[in-house]
Amino acid sequence: MREFYAEGELVSVLTAQPLDRLLDYKAPEGGCWRGAFVEVPLGPRKVLGVIWGDGIGGFDLSKARSVNRVLDVAPMREEMRQFLTKVGAYTLTPMSAMLRLATRAPGLGDAPSMRKVYRLGSVAPDRMTDARTRVLEVLRDYGGLAFTLSELAEMAGTSSSVIKGLVKQGAVSEEDSPRDLPYPRLDPDYGAKDLSDDQAAAAETLRAKMRSGAYGTTLLKGVTGSGKTEVYLEAVAEALRIGRQALVLLPEIALTSEFITRVEARFGMKPAEWHSGVTMTERRRCWKMVGNGDAQLVVGARSALYLPYRDLGLIVVDEEHDTSYKQDDGVLYNARDMAVLRASLNNAQVVLASATPSLESWANVEAGKYDRITLTSRFGDAVLPDMKAIDMRAEDVPSGRWISPSLRSAIIDRMEKGEQSLVFLNRRGYAPLTICRACGHQIACDHCDARMVEHRFLKRLMCHQCGETKPMPEVCPNCQAEGKLNPVGPGVERMAEEVVEMFPDAKIAVLSSDLFGSARALKEKIEEIGRGETDIIIGTQLVAKGHNFPRLTLVGVIDADLGLQGSDLRAAERTFQLMRQVAGRAGRAETPGIALLQTYQPEHHVIRAILSGDEEEFWKAEAAERKAAGVPPYGRMAGIVISGPDMQEVFDLGNALARRADPLTRIGAQVFGPAPAPIARIRGRHRVRLLVKADKTAPLQSALQQWVAQVRVPNNVRLSIDIDPQSFY
Ligand code: ADP
Ligand code: ZN
Repeated sequence: MREFYAEGELVSVLTAQPLDRLLDYKAPEGGCWRGAFVEVPLGPRKVLGVIWGDGIGGFDLSKARSVNRVLDVAPMREEMRQFLTKVGAYTLTPMSAMLRLATRAPGLGDAPSMRKVYRLGSVAPDRMTDARTRVLEVLRDYGGLAFTLSELAEMAGTSSSVIKGLVKQGAVSEEDSPRDLPYPRLDPDYGAKDLSDDQAAAAETLRAKMRSGAYGTTLLKGVTGSGKTEVYLEAVAEALRIGRQALVLLPEIALTSEFITRVEARFGMKPAEWHSGVTMTERRRCWKMVGNGDAQLVVGARSALYLPYRDLGLIVVDEEHDTSYKQDDGVLYNARDMAVLRASLNNAQVVLASATPSLESWANVEAGKYDRITLTSRFGDAVLPDMKAIDMRAEDVPSGRWISPSLRSAIIDRMEKGEQSLVFLNRRGYAPLTICRACGHQIACDHCDARMVEHRFLKRLMCHQCGETKPMPEVCPNCQAEGKLNPVGPGVERMAEEVVEMFPDAKIAVLSSDLFGSARALKEKIEEIGRGETDIIIGTQLVAKGHNFPRLTLVGVIDADLGLQGSDLRAAERTFQLMRQVAGRAGRAETPGIALLQTYQPEHHVIRAILSGDEEEFWKAEAAERKAAGVPPYGRMAGIVISGPDMQEVFDLGNALARRADPLTRIGAQVFGPAPAPIARIRGRHRVRLLVKADKTAPLQSALQQWVAQVRVPNNVRLSIDIDPQSFY
């Protein structure tokens, strides 16, 4: 393939338009390199594209239009092109969608110039209006970030004249700023900590791997608080020293600000950030600077994998077992696996950090594909908490209450010592079910096959599938009986009620992702808890991740059996990970902690494994079971969901596919279904599922493509294929 095309030569261009083919254009004045980002005319519009290769031709060349211009950004590198191509082939995603993923920043073609930016000023405005309050709130929420006029107006939902008014008064400051500044240099030797012996050994192993300049993946395993973050920051430091870029992926935006603070303490400056909470201007800056090599470290969400790194040397996937690394909409990819692919194309190193690794990574270590480093003890004097079961069959708990007498006395004990307790329940809202005591009617979503969850805090019912909410009805929608609607089962909000009643003098905080309007409010609450200003924390999964609460010494799990139900093949693995993670919140500082698990089945093998803490045993048993069943990571799976407004139509398509399974059976794969999906209706669309199981080595993607190509998908029906599905819904 050619590298350079002279003016007028025919080139093929990949655009982000959903066309599923390359388009031919003539190279512009001055010619263009393969990989160049360009602007091309498409009908009446101008769209972004990449010079992909030789023109395809086969039409009247005098009709070919010319590339408008080459954009002033670094051309797409060869390894990026390969990465996008491979991810596209693996996930069966068209290249146009892959390019969209790789160019998620606005105005990439804009010329560098000065612009006005706005920050919080120092003077209070003479009078407040709602609009003014919103503007100042946005500026405060993003602490110190500068916005352009239109960004700020959009985020505050006001007109630009409101902002100009605030500028006049000095409540908002206006300054000139060059577009897209490079990020400040990070200093690898700033703020280095004295490492413990096994931390130091782990860090040296990673540094040596960085220096090797070769590809490699290391599972960095260690209990929460053992210093995994400190250790992988040393690998980042080595990347900085040898002049290569590093990327740290975090599973949740809520964790970023705490992490950025740590990076600043370690390297003296803040890194680049890339996630959905970052302003559009910052996104473009990040995208461009990553391409120039002027961003040395990116901290971000999974889509940061698709930034145009000039020389990516290290990818850290923190909390690698976290299910949020699997994208649930749009392009279905697992960021952990794609990080490994990206690194292998770029002679880079991957560090997968976790206290509770996924079975996939564990199996890759067993198979010798990944290396493993284990940090065995907690840093300093902190020890792992004891874990004990509370057998709920022997506890006297009134109906509509969930805290057992044993857990209650443990909490009282902590309060007397001035220590903190966490009451953990992985369920948002007040009650998962609302039922009419007169007729038995259960309030369900109008658009989904799901019950509405009461959110008392918002005074509404909410569908956790589609997000639809409605006010809590006064009378039963079915029998019109008054005052008969009853909540059934607990959510965190209801637990909070019980805790308040049981411990009227305690200072209480509820941590649930839906109770905080902004990332800043959540951050403040977390800091408050960290300072020890709370006696009892009531929380969902949100608290299981990463935060550091030094005075927390007791974790009470309300329903340890919750995750064990259901047909998900990873149910045991997930429960095991979640329970160990939550327990790991206790006893991070000097005082030892304890975790109490309320369970109705203390003899269940997963509960027993959690209590004994014998992870290797658990993994071996789990691996043996999955091997026997031929499921991931020992076999491959693909989930096919067909959805549409008409139930018959989606079933017909599912049946048609099931009847024509030849392309799959030829490679030894099995097809199951069609069956109604576990959630058979979402947003008014009926959903039917097929499941394909194949050998690990079978050429699954090409067989799937041949298979679905046999049927015609009606216009209003959607067929989506999820390779390696993580969730089954
Ligand atoms: P993990 O990532 O395994 O949960 P961290 O790296 O966050 O562990 O370490 C837990 C806590 O202990 C953090 O507050 C961290 O700063 C501190 N810590 C760990 N190792 C050291 C060290 N060598 N020197 C000083 N503090 C350390
Ligand atoms: Zn719904």
